[in-house]
Amino acid sequence: MNVEQFYPLFLRSEKAVIDSRKIGTNDIFFAFSGENFNAATFAEKAIDEGALAVIVEQKDFENEERNIFYVPSTLDFLQKLAIYHRNQLQIPIIGLTGSNGKTTTKEIIHAVLSEKFNVQYTFGNLNNHIGVPLTILSIKSEHEMAVIEMGANHQKEIELLCSISQPNFGYITNFGKAHLEGFGGFEGVIKGKSELYDYLKNHNETIVVNENDPIQVEKTENYSPKITFGKENSDYQFRLFSEEHFVGVIYNNQKAVSKLTGEYNFTNLCAAASLGFHFGIDFMQIKNAIENYTPTNMRSQVVKKEGRTLVLDTYNANPSSMIASLHNFITFEGSKTIIIGDMLELGEESEKEHQTILNLAQELGFNEIITVGKNFKKINTSVSSFENTSELIEYLKSHKIQSENILLKGSRGVALEKSIDFI
Ligand code: ATP
Ligand code: MG
Repeated sequence: MNVEQFYPLFLRSEKAVIDSRKIGTNDIFFAFSGENFNAATFAEKAIDEGALAVIVEQKDFENEERNIFYVPSTLDFLQKLAIYHRNQLQIPIIGLTGSNGKTTTKEIIHAVLSEKFNVQYTFGNLNNHIGVPLTILSIKSEHEMAVIEMGANHQKEIELLCSISQPNFGYITNFGKAHLEGFGGFEGVIKGKSELYDYLKNHNETIVVNENDPIQVEKTENYSPKITFGKENSDYQFRLFSEEHFVGVIYNNQKAVSKLTGEYNFTNLCAAASLGFHFGIDFMQIKNAIENYTPTNMRSQVVKKEGRTLVLDTYNANPSSMIASLHNFITFEGSKTIIIGDMLELGEESEKEHQTILNLAQELGFNEIITVGKNFKKINTSVSSFENTSELIEYLKSHKIQSENILLKGSRGVALEKSIDFI
């Protein structure tokens, strides 16, 4: 079975899925096999229950009469099908990468562009070599554009994701200290993320540039087409607005205030607004989108609990986003406790980076500092520290945090959000 032969069947399908528990009527099920599982064993059942077709990577499970097709590699077939589909689509695709803020920026861009267009976008955080093709395959004829998040933790990954999604516009949210291990240090991060710029340049496509970021400026110098913001002579100019911890943009004396906390979200908003303007959306619509977007995804989220303010930023953490988060939180009025979890995947820089964060936290002068995870525990002697979130929960059961403001931030693996009910 090749992609071209399969495509007409794909066009009749509802959606592409890789999880056997999520197969619905008329879906295409891409069965992957791993060391400990073999999804192909679900193939017949999937068809019985209404799936349109199944792709398997083991010959034994093939049954063409029942639309169960064998391919040498399910992943390869999924990616090739996505490329084929992308090539049929005549719509602009906006590609996003960066160390921090991709999902948030994607959500806001989606909100802004949806004021005028029918926009498809990455669901949740499905931003890898499987998630990107699945998102591309979810684009239907009614969609007028799409926003695709691309994540990477090593070189050449963004290059691959660009070859699949073929973006016409691209934005790198920032270059930060994330996935240092896989990228080979900060220079490696810059190089790896810049594969988006390389793709756009090679195809003469548009780069969105935050002119306040010297790396973005340097990497896109003398290039056009560009959409710029951040400086006085940029295409679009915004001023930062913040009120009761919420960040917003001021444009020509009109303001739009989001429900996001953290000044770092300012550039995310600016990028979304700039793209909005580029596509003919006016500021009143942009304001509407920004003000109505409510984060529910543990990123820069503010919630009230028993009269206290909780900042939930437990989706992920790395040195750059941790520093930004601490600087933001120190501006909160009233007493403050921080519960910070380990920053994972830092390789040999790990100990130094954790030490830096702890020093910063102590300098900033929070009323209480609690750390969670082995990395923090290893280096610190003077603050409460727990090896994992379960230990933290045991502690919280008998110790109520008194502060008026509480920040929770840590890497995904630490899952600090599990402690929320006990705070
Ligand atoms: P992932 O790699 O997990 O997909 P992401 O890049 O999609 O992450 P988000 O989930 O949007 O990032 O945001 C994670 C956290 O990063 C936020 O809650 C915030 O603390 C921080 N952050 C968001 N935007 C920025 C930014 N522009 N610069 C620095 N830090 C940011
Ligand atoms: Mg993300």
